[in-house]
Amino acid sequence: MTDAKHAAGSLFMVVAPSGAGKSTLVNALLAQEPAIKLSISYTTRPPRPAEQHGREYYFTTVDDFLHRREAGEFLESAEVHGNYYGTSRLLIEAEMRAGTDVLLEIDWQGAQQVKKQFPNAAGIFILPPSITALEERLKKRGQDEPHIITRRLLAAGGEIAHAPEFEYVIINQEFATALSELTAIVKATRCRFAQQAARNAPLFAQLGIHANPV
Ligand code: 5GP
Repeated sequence: MTDAKHAAGSLFMVVAPSGAGKSTLVNALLAQEPAIKLSISYTTRPPRPAEQHGREYYFTTVDDFLHRREAGEFLESAEVHGNYYGTSRLLIEAEMRAGTDVLLEIDWQGAQQVKKQFPNAAGIFILPPSITALEERLKKRGQDEPHIITRRLLAAGGEIAHAPEFEYVIINQEFATALSELTAIVKATRCRFAQQAARNAPLFAQLGIHANPV
């Protein structure tokens, strides 16, 4: 009865340039809201030292990635900083049908593709408080080689140019404030009519509320 597009679950897309503090914010949100499932993407990027296959990403080869993309396995996919990234279609559709809230950490290209298929997906853009802060965070992170940091910094401007396409914007100046704003967005999205109607179908029927107002 419930198809993936009209399910009780909410789909969140969190987008930011590298160094805006997206992963830290998302991890804190997930610790507070364990009901939200983080989508694990496929990538052809090599794992960073602390990363594990199946936890941060499914790490794969370019050949395997292109094969999967050809087979239509991805809900969205994009080339970011010279590597391929993609979201599993099967996984997302199954979670949405089951009424689970799902969060995608993707780039603006992926967000555009998801929005076409799931117009209700909530798009959240995380901005750094300044370009200097972005540079400092990228360097301090110490996870990437200097030439990769430069590449990501140059790409940040391109990513930020897409902020106007997003419904919500968070400026990550003060972590606690940014986290409470992210939590507020999650709560508000869950209260949208479509999500409430899908989650509480018997109540809505009992109260005579119809999904499509006349
Ligand atoms: P990183 O290599 O730092 O983990 O991620 C680089 C960029 O790729 C980030 O902007 C991240 O959000 C994006 N990304 C990660 N997974 C996906 C995905 O499945 N699809 C798309 N389109 N972008 C992704």
